[in-house]
This record gives sequence, structure tokens and C-alpha cells, in this order.
Amino acid sequence: MLVAANWKMHGSKAHIHEFVDGLRLVEDVDVVVFPPSVFVQELVQCAPAGLLSGIQDIGIQPQGAHTGEVAAEMVAEVGGTWSIVGHSERRIMQAETDDLVATKASAAFRGGLRPIVCVGETLSEREAGHELAVVERQLAAVLDRVDVNDLAEGAIGYEPVWAIGTGKTATPAQAQEMHAFIRAQIAAESPRAADAIRIVYGGSVKPDNAAELFSEADIDGGLVGGASLKADEFSAIVSAADAVGKG
Ligand code: PEP
Repeated sequence: MLVAANWKMHGSKAHIHEFVDGLRLVEDVDVVVFPPSVFVQELVQCAPAGLLSGIQDIGIQPQGAHTGEVAAEMVAEVGGTWSIVGHSERRIMQAETDDLVATKASAAFRGGLRPIVCVGETLSEREAGHELAVVERQLAAVLDRVDVNDLAEGAIGYEPVWAIGTGKTATPAQAQEMHAFIRAQIAAESPRAADAIRIVYGGSVKPDNAAELFSEADIDGGLVGGASLKADEFSAIVSAADAVGKG
């Protein structure tokens, strides 16, 4: 199981120390915290053994004249190990295309980071019955650019846009349907990669709904926004992942 904290543009050095002091890790759940990029190094330096850190987005080049961008190699140099790519806030607010997201997934691997590649449909896409087609298209773009066996070292984050920060969670059945669909798309290229890859759910995951989501067969953990800012709430979600006993 993999449980990740997406802090978005929240946090400070003081918050990192308070969070780390209050966090309860468990042996069988991988935990990654994504603070704002400027704080990755601070988190790496004070993280207890087993707590991983990463960046919420990366540039596609290893270095060069790209003002404001951060390369995966730079994140790796300061001890980060993961990157989110394709979060819906970036797809929408920064107009990131499927191809750019796929290029970022590839850049993450090039620089030594494991990406969590976010996919997910908007409310209007779901209401039009297009959710499977949208996610299929988003994932196909990644599979075009990244070897499926490499991708298996990272993760897919299924985050229905209508469930992010809204308090509306996909039902376990809705999430499971999409996770199984994603796994089948990966299995079509490599059954081994499909078994290995973690497909995590994101969208208003909270301590009181985590257990039932994580109990679904194809849900391998969570990508948590709002509820990841407080160590006690986030720790409860980590324990819920542990309690389902999937290892
Ligand atoms: C997210 O932004 O990745 C997310 C899932 O947010 P929230 O948990 O707040 O819905």
C-alpha cells in the first residue's frame, strides 16, 4: 500500500517539524509527503526512517534556461524520491496536456524519481458517461512515452476531479470500477506490470472513508490532499491502509 500526502501550496518549515513529530508510520505502508518544492529538502532532513518525500510537479528538462522549473535530477539530489505529475489542478490551471504529463512522467524516471501519474475525469465528463474514455486517453498517452515495466515502479493516482477538495468522495464501487479499468489497460501491455503497479485513489479521502475505499481489490492506497495536512488525520489514513492487510 502507498499513502501520499499532497500538501499543495500549504506548509512551512515549522509545519514540517510539527507534522513529522506527530506522524505515526507503519511497516507495511509506504508513505510519501509532497510539500511545496522549496521545502522538500527540509522534509528529507528531518524525516524519520521510512518517510519518503517528493515534488508536486517537475520540469521536463534536466537543466537549462527554463525559468521557474525544477528538474527531477535536482529533487533526487536533495533526497526526494517521488514526483506527482498530471495533477488535475495543473492540467486545468496550467493547461497541461496529456502529452506534457506523459513527458513529465518520463522525465521523472530519467531523473531518478518515481512518478505518481494522476488521471481522472471532470464532473461534466462523468455526467456525459465519458469517464472511462477520458482516463483511457490520459493513460494511453503515458504508455506511449513510458515503458510499462518502468511505469510499474511508479504509481497511478485516480483522482476524479469532482471529488478533489469538494468533500464528495467517489463511492468505493465507482473507484474500484475505474481502478480495475486502469489495471486492465496496463495488463494489456504487461500482466506483470499490472500486478506490480500501485493504483491509488484521491478525492476527499478522510479517516472515516479510507478503510472502505482501501478494502476494494484494486485500490492500493490513497493520494490525500486536505486531510494530509494534520499529522493525526493523515496517520489515521495510514493506519486504515495498514488495517486492510494488503501489505
Ligand atoms: C488532491 O489534491 O490530490 C486531493 C486528493 O485533494 P483532497 O484530498 O483534498 O480532495
